[in-house]
Amino acid sequence: MDSNRADFLIVGGGIVGLAIAQEIRTRFPAASVLILEKESGVALHASGRNSGVIHAGFYYSPESLKAKLTRDGNERMKRFCLDNNLPISQNGKVVVAQKPEDVPVLTELHRRGIANGVDVELVDTARLAELEPLAETIDMALWSPNTAVADPGSVATKLEELLIKSGVRILFNMHVEKIHDKRAYVKGGEVFEYGHLINASGLYSDVVAKELGFGSKYSMIPFIGLYYYAPSLKGTLNRHIYPTPDPRNPFLGVHFTKTASGDVKVGPTAIPVLSREQYGLFDGLKLNEMLGILANYPRFIASKHHDVWSLVKTELPKLSRTHLLGEAAKLSSKIDVSKFTVAGKPGIRAQLFDKTEGKLEMDFVIEGDEDSTQVLNAVSPGWTSCFSFAEYVVNDMETRLKA
Ligand SMILES: Cc1cc2nc3c(=O)[nH]c(=O)nc-3n(C[C@H](O)[C@H](O)[C@H](O)COP(=O)(O)OP(=O)(O)OC[C@H]3O[C@@H](n4cnc5c(N)ncnc54)[C@H](O)[C@@H]3O)c2cc1C
Repeated sequence: MDSNRADFLIVGGGIVGLAIAQEIRTRFPAASVLILEKESGVALHASGRNSGVIHAGFYYSPESLKAKLTRDGNERMKRFCLDNNLPISQNGKVVVAQKPEDVPVLTELHRRGIANGVDVELVDTARLAELEPLAETIDMALWSPNTAVADPGSVATKLEELLIKSGVRILFNMHVEKIHDKRAYVKGGEVFEYGHLINASGLYSDVVAKELGFGSKYSMIPFIGLYYYAPSLKGTLNRHIYPTPDPRNPFLGVHFTKTASGDVKVGPTAIPVLSREQYGLFDGLKLNEMLGILANYPRFIASKHHDVWSLVKTELPKLSRTHLLGEAAKLSSKIDVSKFTVAGKPGIRAQLFDKTEGKLEMDFVIEGDEDSTQVLNAVSPGWTSCFSFAEYVVNDMETRLKA
């Protein structure tokens, strides 16, 4: 076998690339599958830096791909964790109202949940107190018993191990820079030939897609999610507590999460950053990326689809821990937010921006032809849905291969 050739070449070793590799391996057992990852290990970006919440699937409008894939994805992710003895807590979550305008949004989320076949219930304050004594709401809250939480790092490592056992090759420190004539050119000189390429490169999916003439109307706008842990509150939270989201924006709002190990964390923010992997003020800041990202802002700010000013005004101050914790305190006065002293690993959302429409894509986006498949917007709940999403992507790819 030529080691620099693969029937299926996947760019990106995050959870989406890994899940797609598994799906391909199952469907085409005789085919060679190769993952090229630019980092030294799997899931070092979003897939290893998220909340680890296994979403139930009630947020999404019923016609969306997210709605179709999350309920099944939730079950498959839980099953994967249980079958492989990975940490998981099936504790459920409550979504609370902080102001009267939140109540109709909760009712709409409930309607969507029912339409999406998800078990959701609107509960009164007395029932909320039974479910989660630390939560507070006005009038009503939404209860989602099927929301769970697992450890994204363990899931990715297990999947990597299973893939390697099944014959999938994963090569690290392989940054794909150029692609043409069915060859992927890696920084440093290596070249890999392929039959079909799958772009699962997260924050760089628009860049990789453009190498093959896809994603021309898209650009990435990255948002950083900061987290803080409260070691002394370990074991005190029964359920995740989420605010009612602003339906105009694709983010769920800063929430309290009970992790799979019982720790309590608060976050994530959705603060705009100027580079795709800018995890600190200067850490990951790249001038060329900064200019590209800033170029999207006039159109983004003028967007009629989002309330960008209110997003920027509410999110930017959360760079200050004190401000972020002050906001979190509004979610529950019963949780002592001063205990959140330990910063967690931040994660950056790869949020695809449609430059022609001036809007952030809310759903998963896939493009492709017989030579390649482009996964362009694997945003949350991309981690929850990875197994059903991978099945969908490979179905879509197969249709194009047969055409
Ligand atoms: C703060 C935050 C919280 C979230 N919370 C949740 C949650 O609770 N539940 C949930 O379901 N989802 C959540 N998500 C979303 C979830 O993390 C993503 O949907 C998922 O991780 C996307 O996986 P991915 O494989 O597409 O991307 P990534 O994990 O980013 O993987 C892409 C990989 O491609 C590699 N790569 C990029 N360019 C190249 C190149 N040119 N050559 C080679 N390799 C390349 C990168 O190094 C990276 O490893 C959250 C995301 C964030 C940021």
